[in-house]
Amino acid sequence: MGLLIVLSGPAGVGKGTVCTALRGRMPEIVYSVSATTRQPRQGEIDGVNYFFKSREQFQAMIANDALLEHAEYVGNYYGTPRDFVDKTLASGKDVILEIEVQGALKVKEKFPEAIFIFLLPPSLDELKQRITGRGTESQDTINTRMNVAVEEMNLLQHYDYAVMNDEIDAACDRIRSIIVAEHCRRERFVPYVSGLKTAIEKA
Ligand code: 5GP
Repeated sequence: MGLLIVLSGPAGVGKGTVCTALRGRMPEIVYSVSATTRQPRQGEIDGVNYFFKSREQFQAMIANDALLEHAEYVGNYYGTPRDFVDKTLASGKDVILEIEVQGALKVKEKFPEAIFIFLLPPSLDELKQRITGRGTESQDTINTRMNVAVEEMNLLQHYDYAVMNDEIDAACDRIRSIIVAEHCRRERFVPYVSGLKTAIEKA
């Protein structure tokens, strides 16, 4: 089984940017494409950035238990298609979910063995700038996102790791180190070691 890695954190912390950078640096990891009811932004491609769905289509996915988790965020649904994650993990590959915090908590209930990484903003000013700097949202949406972000900081306690997103290369290095270390956990080697012992005994 591959590792399920959940990259989450407050709104506007730069999860998307870190995830995109990580894709270039860790091409061996599979990045889950979410379903959403929000409208595509300029340049976004259906099936690449998101699977863009109507509310009815999304509700049908929920009813069919086709989502590993889903959450409503600033008036739109977002969710992780379950089948793709299950099959990819079963094939032995690691999967990264880049999702907001409510969804991450739901994954934790269903998949406690996943690795939960909380991305932190280096400062409040930086967070504010990132939320405003996207330039595509209304003032109302920006205010909502700032309030949500403050509440979301309290959820750090549910995570295994915290990564400061002060500089993109450094943040990616930290995430890579976490993934490498998680692969070295001794319990993952128990089957290998028992195989070795059996082979030695037979020899
Ligand atoms: P955006 O609309 O800016 O692409 O994403 C808004 C928020 O939704 C981001 O915090 C992003 O991480 C989160 N998000 C994207 N996909 C999913 C998903 O499948 N599930 C959940 N719970 N959140 C998601």
